[in-house]
Amino acid sequence: PESHYDVIIIGAGAAGLMCAATTGYRGRRVLVLDHANKPGKKILMSGGGRCNFTNLNSTPANFLSDNPHYCISALKRYTPQDFLELVDRHGVEYEEKAPGQLFCKDSARDILNLLLTECDWAGAQIRMKTPVTGIMESGDGYVIATASGKLRCQSLVIATGGLSIPTMGATGFGYDVARKFGLTVLPTRAGLVPFTLQPELREQLAPLAGISCPVEVSCEGQHFREPMLVTHRGLSGPAMLQISSYWHPGDSLDINLLPTCQIQDDLMALRRQKPQATVVHYLNQHLPKRFAQAFNELSGWSGPLQSFKNADIERVAQTLGDWVIKPSGTEGYRTAEVTLGGVDTRQLSSKTMAVLNRPDLYFIGEVVDVTGHLGGHNFQWAWASAVAAGNDA
Ligand code: FAD
Repeated sequence: PESHYDVIIIGAGAAGLMCAATTGYRGRRVLVLDHANKPGKKILMSGGGRCNFTNLNSTPANFLSDNPHYCISALKRYTPQDFLELVDRHGVEYEEKAPGQLFCKDSARDILNLLLTECDWAGAQIRMKTPVTGIMESGDGYVIATASGKLRCQSLVIATGGLSIPTMGATGFGYDVARKFGLTVLPTRAGLVPFTLQPELREQLAPLAGISCPVEVSCEGQHFREPMLVTHRGLSGPAMLQISSYWHPGDSLDINLLPTCQIQDDLMALRRQKPQATVVHYLNQHLPKRFAQAFNELSGWSGPLQSFKNADIERVAQTLGDWVIKPSGTEGYRTAEVTLGGVDTRQLSSKTMAVLNRPDLYFIGEVVDVTGHLGGHNFQWAWASAVAAGNDA
């Protein structure tokens, strides 16, 4: 087999495959290496098997990074519309499930097939089951040691992703490469991940398990108005996954269970109009019945509203509008959709994704300290950063 390439990309995931096609179309001889047995495993499991492949409303505000301006340039140069055109060219059917969130109608496999077809057309080779055992600098490029021999390349692209879902082949490889070449790796932690609760609180909330309701959750100055799901393990659902990326151990969550209501005014008015009504009556109008019942029981509210003094109503409103929960932790990398932190972008070019003082070494996708919100933003970053590097490598 050949051993000299213009570009070697390590990682056959979303970013690596997109980069391979982009640089292959420029006439570069490209090889993608991956230790897993199959490419794009995370794409296949993404979006519940339907891959939320982009978000039409994606803006830099949908990304977390220690250097928030870094992602702007690449995202501007490769937009959700650009990816959508590619999806259309391949005849992949999609649907907008929530505002801006585009999913495959049929299967996430359509997106993986699209990428593999593009790689094929661009002449990019993909070699799976090939662990990399070493990377050495050599003259005008790099020597990549693998179990099946040494490979040479001019440009090296690291697209090995983050630490989430180790059973899918996630490793800290990219961070090790970054450190080897003197780059700073910012501390990593699990993001877009369910919360766990202390056993006592978990038992108290057990009657609510399996019920989802729209809430507004706040933490660290961030707010998300999306559904929350109570599970037998803790708190999940889009609202909790989103806020988990901003949460730090010890932080409390402020949950407004009725974010569209003026709770105190509503209860005062109800007491005036229907003195016999109860808090449950009110809750039933706005929350799933089983949730309303269970939450009322948990809070110990009973009797008609006419027996509630103003201060009592204030307390009820306070509990419903600002229910404070202190998670004991998160489920961690085992179930996290993304990894926060990673290769510090201050040492990378926002135009090319290359290391500033080493323009033939690139870092793209999730291995970099750019992490998107839930809703297709993480793939959009994978595509955009991959195209930026692919046009330069
Ligand atoms: P990856 O796609 O993780 O690819 C990295 C590749 O590198 C893998 O093939 C891996 O085998 C390989 N690799 C790792 N270590 C080594 C090594 N040492 N040597 C060789 N190869 C190596 N994002 C969205 O935008 N929308 C969604 O719907 C969505 N759903 C998700 C659902 C789940 C369950 C999960 C876990 C994530 C989801 N994400 C979603 C996030 C998204 O999958 C990632 O952000 C994206 O895949 C990152 O792309 P990447 O190419 O950087 O890394």
